[in-house]
Amino acid sequence: MYDIVVIGAGPAGGQTARNLAKRGHKVLLVERYKDFSENDFSSAGMTLEPLEEFDLPNSIIGSYWNDLEIQCSQYKYSWKSTKPKGVVLDFKKLRQYLADDCVQHGGEVLMGYKYISKEIIDSHVVLTLFNTKTSKSIQVKATLVVDATGPLRKVMFDDKEAQPKMVLGSGTEYVIEVEQEVYDKFKEKLVFFLGHKWAIKGYSWIFPMENRVLKVGAGKTHIKSVDQEKTNATTKIITEKIIEEYVQSKNYKIIDKHGGILRYSPGIKDRFYHNRVIAVGDSVSAINPRGGEGIRYAMQTADLASEYISEYITTGKTNFSNYRKRWRKKKLLKWRLSEFSARRMYSRYSDIQIENRVSFFHKNFSTDDMIQSLFNFKYNKMFTRIVQLMFLKTSYLLKGQKF
Ligand SMILES: Cc1cc2nc3c(=O)[nH]c(=O)nc-3n(C[C@H](O)[C@H](O)[C@H](O)COP(=O)(O)OP(=O)(O)OC[C@H]3O[C@@H](n4cnc5c(N)ncnc54)[C@H](O)[C@@H]3O)c2cc1C
Repeated sequence: MYDIVVIGAGPAGGQTARNLAKRGHKVLLVERYKDFSENDFSSAGMTLEPLEEFDLPNSIIGSYWNDLEIQCSQYKYSWKSTKPKGVVLDFKKLRQYLADDCVQHGGEVLMGYKYISKEIIDSHVVLTLFNTKTSKSIQVKATLVVDATGPLRKVMFDDKEAQPKMVLGSGTEYVIEVEQEVYDKFKEKLVFFLGHKWAIKGYSWIFPMENRVLKVGAGKTHIKSVDQEKTNATTKIITEKIIEEYVQSKNYKIIDKHGGILRYSPGIKDRFYHNRVIAVGDSVSAINPRGGEGIRYAMQTADLASEYISEYITTGKTNFSNYRKRWRKKKLLKWRLSEFSARRMYSRYSDIQIENRVSFFHKNFSTDDMIQSLFNFKYNKMFTRIVQLMFLKTSYLLKGQKF
């Protein structure tokens, strides 16, 4: 019998379990894989802020980055810095750390157990969990259950239940070991690919990890349903093309191949709470729909949800509708703008249009402006600069001069 059972030990589930254990609640964190290296799917690139925001240790950092580079079909555009601007995390170490910290504060963790079903009995939820090694099932009881199963929303929705309309995405990533001179070309920078030569309906990337290790991947948005086979085929082809033709390592070794899907509800129309189940992370479309950056936001929903969960366990007050309201108030407009810009950049623009946009940003915006816009969704400086340029252009035209 637990106060809270959290299903899924990704960034959202791990952070929720860790928070609630710290507050003294009886918590169980359940993960279907027996080891975090089995689903080490995320590139985990981000800025420096989340390290402090969630009090994360240096031991989970794969590498730091200073520079941003956008490679379009024709030209490459760089924004450089002399200081670290962000990190690429070791995703398995991040999740292991969160689970360990939960245990450190009195919580329990069950690895290798898959959530199968739930039943509400009186004022409790009875959960059936399947041991993936022994094929035996166990049952646990909880006052509340947290759905942290990511894009599948396995606990909030029963298998046949209709879910809100979703936009779908998918990604493939190879982790490769390369020669020192090849690694040195890519170290300390995040390279993004935009345009139709190096990406298909999305963007691709090269992120550095520890010395001589690179993460190379491609992400794609889908119009219709995700067919896992076809999905992997397209992003796999692009990833391999980047490794062969762009990274140009003669002797690389593949350390891991992985991938994943994204399911995002436009307008964040997700169910946040229903019948003793509260959802966090990708299960409530926390992920940003333009960049697919989701770790920080998964952990932010965990922090917000933890407040209401703890209040409920302590006082019996159910304020879960405020959890949904506060999250949507914080993100809805920014995520709507991201949906709009993703649709244009990935599906509508020609190579020339993409090149023109990126070149405009390169001429007019600093590294910090780009980071604020790409990672923090703060556009104040950009809007101000664009308005200034429009005024300037009008005054030139009125004087009959060329802008
Ligand atoms: C290829 C790729 C690259 C990405 N790169 C980045 C990046 O660079 N930066 C960034 O910020 N974000 C990135 N993301 C997104 C980010 O990884 C996700 O948004 C984030 O992991 C979401 O966290 P979560 O905890 O909500 O879900 P998840 O990380 O998906 O965790 C869900 C967990 O639930 C478990 N689970 C599922 N079903 C069950 C079940 N029935 N029983 C028990 N356990 C279950 C899963 O095994 C998993 O461990 C990337 C995503 C992909 C696919």
